[in-house]
Amino acid sequence: MYDLIIVGGGPAGLTAMIYAIRKRLNALLISKDLGGKTMWRLELPWVEEYQVIKGLEVVNKFKSELEYLSFARHMEAVEKVEKRGDVFTIHTKGGGELTAKAVIIASGTKQKKIGVPGEKEFLMRGLCYSALSYAPLFIERRTAVIGDGDLALRSAAELATVAQHVTLVGISAAALKTTLGQKLQHSENVHILQDYQVVEVKGERFAEKLVVRSPKGKVEELDVEGTFIEMGLIPNAQMVEGLVELDEQGRVRVDCFCRTNVPGIFAAGDVTDIFAEQVLIAVGEGAKSALSAYEYLLPQL
Ligand SMILES: Cc1cc2nc3c(=O)[nH]c(=O)nc-3n(C[C@H](O)[C@H](O)[C@H](O)COP(=O)(O)OP(=O)(O)OC[C@H]3O[C@@H](n4cnc5c(N)ncnc54)[C@H](O)[C@@H]3O)c2cc1C
Repeated sequence: MYDLIIVGGGPAGLTAMIYAIRKRLNALLISKDLGGKTMWRLELPWVEEYQVIKGLEVVNKFKSELEYLSFARHMEAVEKVEKRGDVFTIHTKGGGELTAKAVIIASGTKQKKIGVPGEKEFLMRGLCYSALSYAPLFIERRTAVIGDGDLALRSAAELATVAQHVTLVGISAAALKTTLGQKLQHSENVHILQDYQVVEVKGERFAEKLVVRSPKGKVEELDVEGTFIEMGLIPNAQMVEGLVELDEQGRVRVDCFCRTNVPGIFAAGDVTDIFAEQVLIAVGEGAKSALSAYEYLLPQL
């Protein structure tokens, strides 16, 4: 049995694992990959890597340390976490079972997709997620935001502070009634295409045109230099559904010690209900979750 199993090899899980190793815990990281979403890189002609706050130095350092320590990692998807007495059983996709005294869930989120031609082809080449990370790079650019709800409104509002123009595609009447929705309706550089649908993304090397359809079926093309898909995030928390408390968006609820409501299960990074999805925040939360798990384990060591 392990002292600690960490699920997820993104910034949160990698950092937690390196802390666990330094604390000499008998720990294992189980993940589908090492690096998580830090492997995504936005490519645009005017974007230089240094302009983006990434924290890649620390993530890559931890990643290469773990690549070397093959006994400390297991590359597979986790399907379910179960609690039997004080012991946690981790069920993997291939049918394996691993046990631990404590668990950290650091499995991140998935982005909702638009599912149209061109989406796959232009992803991270003009078509991207996370205006939170990239909006400041779009000074005086023509941009679009696709989505409905808080994330889309927030992204459009942030872009509107720097971009030449923002077209908000697919927003609903309900979202437009909110404070940010009202503000956007009165912004000179924001054009709202309420209830429109995106039909296709077109371009040469980079996404340059969005084909959209109005509720009445009229199709038009928008010229864009940057498009953000901000339809929401799906937390990879299915493995602990019914075991720990989740919030209304399906994220694992944690306190400021990264503790869930179940003693012995901790969570860190984007899969939790903390504020803002950013690498450096996930790194910090990962560190905190490992130290918190260590405190929990100390009487048993
Ligand atoms: C397109 C894009 C660009 C971004 N750009 C930036 C940026 O420039 N700067 C910035 O600070 N932030 C950026 N972010 C946000 C940042 O990437 C995340 O906040 C950060 O990666 C979260 O780290 P995490 O460890 O919580 O989750 P993730 O990075 O998502 O890692 C989750 C890990 O869990 C693993 N996993 C998932 N499910 C399972 C399972 N069932 N079993 C086993 N393993 C599983 C995954 O394989 C992965 O290794 C960006 C996000 C996106 C989507």
